Amino acid sequence: MESIGFSQHDHTACVNGGLKAVENTCADKGLRLTKGRRRVLEILLQEHRAMGAYDILGLLSDEGFASQPPVVYRALDFLTEHGFVHKVEKLNAYVACTHPTDQHTPVFLICRGCDTVAETGMPTRSGLKDAASDMGFEIEKTVVEAEGLCPSCQGQAT
Ligand SMILES: [Zn+2]
Ligand SMILES: [Zn+2]
Ligand SMILES: [Zn+2]
Repeated sequence: MESIGFSQHDHTACVNGGLKAVENTCADKGLRLTKGRRRVLEILLQEHRAMGAYDILGLLSDEGFASQPPVVYRALDFLTEHGFVHKVEKLNAYVACTHPTDQHTPVFLICRGCDTVAETGMPTRSGLKDAASDMGFEIEKTVVEAEGLCPSCQGQAT
């Protein structure tokens, strides 16, 4: 699976595609993608990096959105609950899912230089699940976050 975020790509298509996928899923499932929820998602898609709730709030109020912290938190709760956005625990921040229509375990590659986060797919047959079930443990949620340097930050380091 390609990792989006560190690679060159048509970012306008990427943002529009991400929005469209979520709009379609919401329509199918009868979920309400309110203006605020949609805008929060759009910001995360545009930024391609993990953002804290307060970063998002800052952008929204710059735009004149009458946004209160609870509005942003509720939008993020909705978006993460339905898998449109993931929470990156390490950064206590949020990132838009790059393939929101698939059931998947996200694996995050986090650049410690610029906070860009790329999501990449986990091999579906993960050894972790088998190892856990050998111990009688049933995994409900796995968070995989790897830290390092993205290609452009590696370039700056040399
Ligand atoms: Zn993009
Ligand atoms: Zn995802
Ligand atoms: Zn970087």
